[in-house]
Amino acid sequence: MIILKNATFIDWESLAFTKSNILVPKGVDQAIQFVKEIPKELNAEATLIDCTGKYVTKSFVNGHHHVYSALATGMPAPKKIPGNFYEILKYIWWTLDKSLDLEMIKTSAYVTAIACAKSGVTFAIDHHASPFAVEGSLQTIADAFNEVGVSHLLSYELTDRDGVKIANQGLAETENYLKNNQGLVGLHASFTLTNKTLEKAANLARKYNTGVHVHVAEDLYDQEHCYDIHNKRVIERFNDLGILNLKRSLLVHCLYLTNAERDLIRESGLFVAQNTESNLNNNVGQFNSCAIGNNIMLGTDGMHSDMLRAAKATFYNGQLNDTIDYAEIYHRFRNANRYLKTNNFKGDGENNLVVLDYLPSTYMSESNFLGHFLFGLDTTHVQHVIANGELIVKDRIITKVDESAIKLKAQQISQKLWNKMQTIPL
Ligand SMILES: [Zn+2]
Repeated sequence: MIILKNATFIDWESLAFTKSNILVPKGVDQAIQFVKEIPKELNAEATLIDCTGKYVTKSFVNGHHHVYSALATGMPAPKKIPGNFYEILKYIWWTLDKSLDLEMIKTSAYVTAIACAKSGVTFAIDHHASPFAVEGSLQTIADAFNEVGVSHLLSYELTDRDGVKIANQGLAETENYLKNNQGLVGLHASFTLTNKTLEKAANLARKYNTGVHVHVAEDLYDQEHCYDIHNKRVIERFNDLGILNLKRSLLVHCLYLTNAERDLIRESGLFVAQNTESNLNNNVGQFNSCAIGNNIMLGTDGMHSDMLRAAKATFYNGQLNDTIDYAEIYHRFRNANRYLKTNNFKGDGENNLVVLDYLPSTYMSESNFLGHFLFGLDTTHVQHVIANGELIVKDRIITKVDESAIKLKAQQISQKLWNKMQTIPL
């Protein structure tokens, strides 16, 4: 049990401010309790945190992440400079993921989970690829996340780009993982998937009562390829294969859509994860929410793990190419929490909280909190992080693993990864 003494609690849905002591029980999906007096019998065993002058609110969720890219920061330029989106994948990301072994994956997962935790993110929805280390990759990521204390919804990125054998390994890895864990069936994107693999993936999702997690029209190329090969648009193709009926499914990017595809997504009620910074970085285009529905959430696409930063970038970029205001950006920021709740995934219950050491420079109340959310708050204010009732960050320090040791090892392993990438034929 953790006791947050004298906190100002901000309800993540209503934004109501409540001054109270808060009892936070340990365990998955436990309810928190507001008490006037702290029961004396609790004091002996509980961890007491003085939250006088601090704000406490529900912790954050990353709606689309890639553990596999965690060791990419600072890596050398690719052997060939990419000129378009397909070449960015081929020369950079598919070269990187082909080079990953289980040790690199484990280190990438530790690094990602640590970055999540320190920015107040206690739940990540990840999409993983490692074509030459498929077997055991998801459990390896799960174990590292569990050690750090960050909850997860994982998937293996199925694709036919590396041949039938590796596609089948991906299906087997997904099924093995789903037997014992909550997860999704990951799909790379329409343009690297045959109908046969898509059908198998959809059947697997149905068998384990889950959904797919798929990149959709991240670049115009995905749509052009779909039309050339299948004579239909990407969302129409997925709809014809029954994928839009898998209610837990998650559609990522969704940049190039016709009005008819927007209607299909809206009517399906599926969640869409937008990834503004990644789209800008890859120069693929800009997201527009028009007619796509209200279930838009935010992801970082593996670029970083800071959801407050993702919200700000999405808001600023939205001024150019979207209809967005303070309420809408906060709604999208919190939709990943709603996605998990609506679909009954475990690990994002009430006892997942951040303690914000935020001393506003101007008046703040529930009526103008969103102005502070966008222009005042950032991750430097995340002082403590509680996940499933456990203190996983205390005074900005990771509590359950040795961050310095992991980072030092990651520095060595990243060089091994970058050297291996030089040997992969383009
Ligand atoms: Zn992605």
